[in-house]
Amino acid sequence: MDDMSRRTVLAATAAGSLFAATRASAATGDTIPQPQRPGHGGTDPGPRNLMRDQQNPDLLVPPSTDHGTLPNLRYSFSDSHVRQESGGWTRQVTVRELGVSKGIAGVNMRLNAGGVRELHWHKAAEWAYMLYGSARITAINPDGQSFVDDVGVGDLWYFPSGVPHSIQGLGPDGCEFLLVFDDGEFDEDNTFLLSDWLKHVPEEVLAKNFGVSDTAFNTVPDPSKLYIFAAPVPGALASDKIAGATPVSQSFSHRMTAQEPIKTKSGTVRITDTSNFPASKTIAAALVEVEPGGMRELHWHPNTDEWQYYIEGQGRMGVFAASGQARTFDFMAGDVGYVPFATGHYIENTGKTTLRFLEMFKSSYYADVSLNQWLALTPPELVQAHLKLDPQTLAAFRKSKSPVVPG
Ligand code: MN
Ligand code: MN
Repeated sequence: MDDMSRRTVLAATAAGSLFAATRASAATGDTIPQPQRPGHGGTDPGPRNLMRDQQNPDLLVPPSTDHGTLPNLRYSFSDSHVRQESGGWTRQVTVRELGVSKGIAGVNMRLNAGGVRELHWHKAAEWAYMLYGSARITAINPDGQSFVDDVGVGDLWYFPSGVPHSIQGLGPDGCEFLLVFDDGEFDEDNTFLLSDWLKHVPEEVLAKNFGVSDTAFNTVPDPSKLYIFAAPVPGALASDKIAGATPVSQSFSHRMTAQEPIKTKSGTVRITDTSNFPASKTIAAALVEVEPGGMRELHWHPNTDEWQYYIEGQGRMGVFAASGQARTFDFMAGDVGYVPFATGHYIENTGKTTLRFLEMFKSSYYADVSLNQWLALTPPELVQAHLKLDPQTLAAFRKSKSPVVPG
């Protein structure tokens, strides 16, 4: 059954639903989905979480091609604890939330205008994509070179492991961004904070280190007061450049959306890795846009796992994990998706607006293998010996070599 007729069946089965669910439906005008299709399943008399069922149509009524057991490959930032501080908030999706994600963790952070993510460093490398507003970011590298830049929507930054840095929201309304770390165990609550260290060094040692009096550092606030704290919006970028300092030889920022996209019939792709953002040694990324009716074609990645973040629109991803195992997950803005290494997958726009998402890889380079391209570049007789297609279908493979194909 195709997707359209599956959704029609969902509508037709709405009549046999729970009273409470019917009330919810009357309020929202939505159809009550039931875990059934002709000859299979049955209604759900409840208890049930109708809003979640409505968000996950491909879990509730999986395509009949889904089979076997797969780990969970979806987690929403909306299911994460939010840590609120005086300058903004933060929440994270790590291996603790999404168990399969051993290699990558993500953080979603909001800094109000002037709000500062305290000067800090950590063991993992940090890659970032600006989702809203703008920020001033600062860092130094181990050669003592200085970095200060302003980043806006669609810009990236990358701080190698151990490199100390800060982020501050600019006017008029600060910023919101996604951080991606090259370690699934990363914990945003467990970073090396400037104030935390100073509070745990004897004052006479601080005095000796900085050549100041014993009481000079008594003014430093408790670490619980910093981390993400309110501060005045800084002046122009030029005023924050350090006089006489050597700028970093390799920039820690990159304008991803300024890249000319690869255009396809139903979308665009921008790829950023060490080939065009040399500092980003451990994270490669693709920003993908799929128009309504379009699809990110069947493919897999020959180098590593894929960690996704959905920025806007609605989509579903079908994954194939060999031995007949396949499962389908639904996504919307703020969701994280995951594809284990070498697992085949596609992502289909199931909404009425552009689907836009990020693919991140713990790798210095981006790579994928397209099923279409593989079959197009394999001797046709050999393909025919496997698939027994009609010759017209076979000829169609040779035309399609783009990463996003029309639906
Ligand atoms: Mn950081
Ligand atoms: Mn992929």
